[in-house]
Formats: sequence, structure tokens, C-alpha cells
Amino acid sequence: MTAIVVLGSTNMDLVAYVVRAPLRGETVTGREFRTVPGGKGANQAVAAARAGGNVAMIGAVGSDAFGRHLRHTLEASGVDTDLLHTADGPSGTAHIVVDDEGGNAIVVVPGANGTVTALGPGDETLIATADTLLLQLELPLSVVVEGAAAARRHGVRTVLTPAPARALPPELLAATDLLVPNEHEATLLTGLTDPEAAAGALLAQVPEVVVTLGARGTLYANRDGARIHVPAPRVTAVDTTAAGDTFTGALAVALGEGRPVEQALRWASCAAALGVRREGASTSMPYRPEIDAEYARVTAAPPD
Ligand code: AMP
Repeated sequence: MTAIVVLGSTNMDLVAYVVRAPLRGETVTGREFRTVPGGKGANQAVAAARAGGNVAMIGAVGSDAFGRHLRHTLEASGVDTDLLHTADGPSGTAHIVVDDEGGNAIVVVPGANGTVTALGPGDETLIATADTLLLQLELPLSVVVEGAAAARRHGVRTVLTPAPARALPPELLAATDLLVPNEHEATLLTGLTDPEAAAGALLAQVPEVVVTLGARGTLYANRDGARIHVPAPRVTAVDTTAAGDTFTGALAVALGEGRPVEQALRWASCAAALGVRREGASTSMPYRPEIDAEYARVTAAPPD
């Protein structure tokens, strides 16, 4: 089984659904409230575990009820949480207001995630046992850089999701094997709006890039000149939250199994498409048998 370590965030998403967001000083009455386990790190860990990976998570939850819930959510999908610490204080939270037009406003309070500033005892040993280290940018940058460097020392493939978007330090890029930005992040990193041009520019810094293009699929590029566009399976999207994390978690599993890139992209796209057909973020992520069945269906279909 592919061994994957995720060094990343856990957050409880606190989502209020409203007709319109309040202005400063105003109070509005919401329609509905949901608590949704999230954080890009935890989402990728759940996605990879459900896709069939042997997954361990490094990070921290808080000592509150959210922390216990977040840990349980990971464990319920089979993620090893031995090196997921419990930090004294609140868990990471994302306070999200979603209005009737689908627009949102979000406040993220890092909480326990902010305490993960450096690798702890045992973290590098665990990373050394992995095929792949998954990284995002919701932990302090210092630990992301340290984790990537540790993976590089041990010949472990590093996959970086550059979200939330920000400028990336050269030492992080130097230790990244595969960069997986969405279109917005690719543009922010390069100043280029065309995904193929942006991917090409990013290859000056990392050997492989996958730009995710929402309903239009994914674009892969590497330094040998390969360019592979894989369209997304056509589905009725119900909730695209965490679609990118589902894609990346599944992609890490498929690449770790040594599947050819194009096949891995198609399989991961099937995982993401299954997720967007259902409501929920990590709760809607598919398990391996469903992904295999969707992949068989998509690859058997005559081209349209
Ligand atoms: P994004 O972060 O929006 O680029 O989405 C990540 C990946 O999720 C995409 O590359 C697709 O594989 C998948 N995805 C997102 N939105 C949709 C959609 N509406 N239909 C099918 N797949 C989607």
C-alpha cells in the first residue's frame, strides 16, 4: 500500500448560511448552521486514506471538543494520528458565511495549527518511511519548509498544494517534486492567466506541475516537455468544497502505486468528480471501490 504522510492543518469549519452577509455593526439571522471537519491537510489525508493509501498525519488539534471531533474524523477514515498532537488551547477554526448567491466570507483562526512551527520527535523518521509527503500552506511556513527538506533528504516525493496562495520561498520550491495549484494560485504565482503558460513558467522552479481547472479538469506539465490535459468527468456539481484536496489525495495514492501519470490523473479526477456530486467536504469523499468503478465507467465510455 502506498505510504503517504500529510504534514498539514486541521480546522473545524463553522458555516452559517444567510440570505446576505451582515455589514459592519449589523446582525442578520441565518437560515442554517453546520460544523464541517476540514483543514486542507486533514482533507487530503482523508481523501488519500479513502482512496486506499496508508496515511499518517502530522499536525495538531486543539484541546477542545473540536479537536476530539477532528481527530475522530481522521481515524474513522483510517488515518494514523499518532503524531497528530493535541495542543493546549483551541483547535483551528474557519468561520464561514455563505450567502444565497453562493458567495462567501471566511475568517480563519489557526489555533492549534499555529503551534506547529517545527518538526517534532519522530516526525522525520515517519516522513522517511513514506513514498510521498503531502504539504499545503495552512501551517507555519517554517515547518512546511522543514518537512519538505526532510522528505528530500530521504528521497521521498513531495507534493505541494500552494494554498492559501502566497509567494513561495525558493528553498521550498527547491524541495518540491510536484506542485498542484488551482488556476487562481497558478496565476498568482506567475502573473499569467493562461494555465498552460503558467504551468510552463512554474517548471522553471519545480520538475512537475498539475494545474487543476475545476470542471475543465487538470493540466499536467513536466520538464521533459510532456503536456497532458485530462478533462473532468461530466457531473452535476452539488458541492465543490475540497474537490482539489480529494484530487490531490487520490493522485498521491495512484502515483505512489507507480501508475503512469495520465492514468493517475484520470483516476484522481474520478475521485474528485464523485466528491463534488455529493454535499460535504471530507464527508463526501469517495472510497476506493467507488473510484475504481467510476474509472472503469469513464474509460469504457466512447469518446463524446
Ligand atoms: P479545482 O480546485 O476547482 O480546480 O478542482 C479540483 C479538481 O476537482 C478538478 O481538477 C476536477 O478534477 C475536480 N472538479 C472540480 N469541480 C468539478 C466539477 N464541477 N465537475 C467535475 N470535476 C470537478
